[in-house]
Amino acid sequence: MAKAFEGKVALVTGANRGLGLEVCRQLAKAGMEVIGTSRDEGEGRKALAPLGEKVRLEVLDVSDPKSVEALAERLRAAGVKLDVLVNNAGMSMKGFDVNVARRTTDVNFKGAMWVTDALLPLVKDGGRIVMVSSGMGSIGGVSAALGKRFLDPNIDRKTLVGLVDEFVEDVKRGDHEAKGWPSSAYRVSKIAMNTLARIVAKETASRHILVNAVCPGWVRTDMGGAHAPRDLETGGKSIVWAALLPDDGPTGGFFRDGVRQEW
Ligand code: NAP
Repeated sequence: MAKAFEGKVALVTGANRGLGLEVCRQLAKAGMEVIGTSRDEGEGRKALAPLGEKVRLEVLDVSDPKSVEALAERLRAAGVKLDVLVNNAGMSMKGFDVNVARRTTDVNFKGAMWVTDALLPLVKDGGRIVMVSSGMGSIGGVSAALGKRFLDPNIDRKTLVGLVDEFVEDVKRGDHEAKGWPSSAYRVSKIAMNTLARIVAKETASRHILVNAVCPGWVRTDMGGAHAPRDLETGGKSIVWAALLPDDGPTGGFFRDGVRQEW
């Protein structure tokens, strides 16, 4: 496997721990040059150093558009072109209120969108984009009426952002359940991320970029907890599968362990 991906370049967000770090390890093992990003420079350095020379660090807070733009500018200036972008950074907060709704959707959905938009010009034609989503992003998490709006084949990013902002506003007003939303910002953020995967897949089809959302399964990380059934290697593989797809691989889908999932 090693040689096929030699010289290819991948960027993985949220790489200082958990699945992001594991994905860096697996992509480097496959032969790629890997840029792992971390909010904290020291933590990122410490985490990535054992992975060897093929892996280097960039600082990035996906929820800060200035940080995202600064990263894109540094990569542009260095002439970096990406074969693979893995939008892995994510969070799940305790409790539920408007601040949790806003922060969670900002990091998990808008963060992935900002990173994708800023780095897309650096992704090579024929590249791969992976949205690390979750089974919690299943469309059944919202009412049938909302589900229909997310699944609209003609949905664009402005409408999608509007839907997510509507969720935050409904939470603020306290009528989100009556409007068909779950009391889980994480669920909504991942439904939006899945929708984003479909939108970006459509936009980049002419450039032959394969864009897919993946679920790593329930994995033992800080987020998944100690009782999750999956180890990091297995969860990481589910993500890496979409990063290493052959040229005739799928795009615009949702997969777990390489098996297509229902939206
Ligand atoms: P984790 O161990 O908690 O790691 C999360 C990573 O995301 C950390 O590197 C964290 O950095 C980073 N991150 C959080 N907010 C960020 C921000 N604003 N900007 C940049 N990086 C940020 O979680 P994990 O389990 O590895 O999760 C990775 C991805 O898999 C997430 O998208 C998650 O939703 C998804 N997922 C996980 C499971 C599971 O069972 N573990 C299941 C389904 C999906 P800091 O250290 O700076 O916070």
